[in-house]
Amino acid sequence: MASYSDLANRPVLTQPVYEAGRPIEVVAREFGLDPASVIKLASNENPLGPSPLGLAAARKALDHCHLYPDGGSTFLREKLARKWSMEPGNFVIGNGSNEVMILLAQAFLRPGDEVVFGAQAFIVYKLATMLFGATPVEVPMPGYRHDFTALRAAITPKTRILFLASPNNPTGGTDSPADILALAASLPEDVIFCLDEAYTEYLEASADLRPLMQSGRKVVLSRTFSKAYGLAGLRVGYLMGSIEVCGLLNRVRQPFNVNLPALAAAEAALDDDAFVRRTREVNAAGIAQLSAGLQKLGFAYIEGKANFLAVQVPKAEEAFTVLQRAGVIVRPLRGYGMTGWLRFTVGTAAQNTRLLEELAKL
Ligand SMILES: *Cc1c(COP(=O)(O)O)cnc(C)c1O
Repeated sequence: MASYSDLANRPVLTQPVYEAGRPIEVVAREFGLDPASVIKLASNENPLGPSPLGLAAARKALDHCHLYPDGGSTFLREKLARKWSMEPGNFVIGNGSNEVMILLAQAFLRPGDEVVFGAQAFIVYKLATMLFGATPVEVPMPGYRHDFTALRAAITPKTRILFLASPNNPTGGTDSPADILALAASLPEDVIFCLDEAYTEYLEASADLRPLMQSGRKVVLSRTFSKAYGLAGLRVGYLMGSIEVCGLLNRVRQPFNVNLPALAAAEAALDDDAFVRRTREVNAAGIAQLSAGLQKLGFAYIEGKANFLAVQVPKAEEAFTVLQRAGVIVRPLRGYGMTGWLRFTVGTAAQNTRLLEELAKL
């Protein structure tokens, strides 16, 4: 008798596994700790909590959760259009930006297609690629930095999508807007360039791809409410692209892919400039604090501007467990081919101090 695996679509069997940051409650139970004493610096979440405007709107929206959410995300798309000087039709809202990348893959990838990204790029690009039977083309990243010449050289007639995040996760390296724009402009016209701007709120300057997009180049960008807006648990992100590409993605997405409180929260959080400003300030101070502390302890790390640092830690796997026992959850990077590295999300000053104290004990 055939097993389920025999019957499954082939790509399902070879899907890489997404290794998520371990939840506080799970670690607390495993190590016999009080959950209140555990800090999670593992998933690049906002240490300040959710945007207060977003949280209040989500709570209010729950009163109406017997109703389906607005499947067209009308108000959020209108607000984004005003923010970006685009049309509402230039946006697709997703259950996290993760979903919009899957939608892109679902709409455009089939076996035989190639998708280009860095060898230490966000793992979701590989998941999305392989899920639809396409071939990942992982371009080496010398010194864990994007090599723009090599990325461009990896493009073949089979290339359908090029994914690039800046800052890149998990390395934290940030590319110059000029390099990003030059790469986007250099691509063949049938290659879709997806710029993942998950951490762009933490940067002083980022590449503006709208002119290229408006000139008809196949450029899309994705953003999220999970990081600087502090709404990771509600799952909202979006893709900006031409009206044509957004129309196609809307055909493949579920009618109610973004839930009611999430939509309300995202809409309100877009106005929470004060929160995003404070997030940026606390993060910049945290990067400075962690960098200084890591230097003092003699740990090598990759300079970065996002809300996390990739750090070389002796016996990283063991350290990962030792830190959990001490109530500090971080992220191992072995799955990214970075054996010997851990990724630390920037926390509050107190959380960073605690992480550094635990590192000193290793
Ligand atoms: C965190 C992150 C995202 C955001 O994912 P969501 O699904 O929006 O929570 C996207 N890209 C990268 C590179 C990230 O690190």
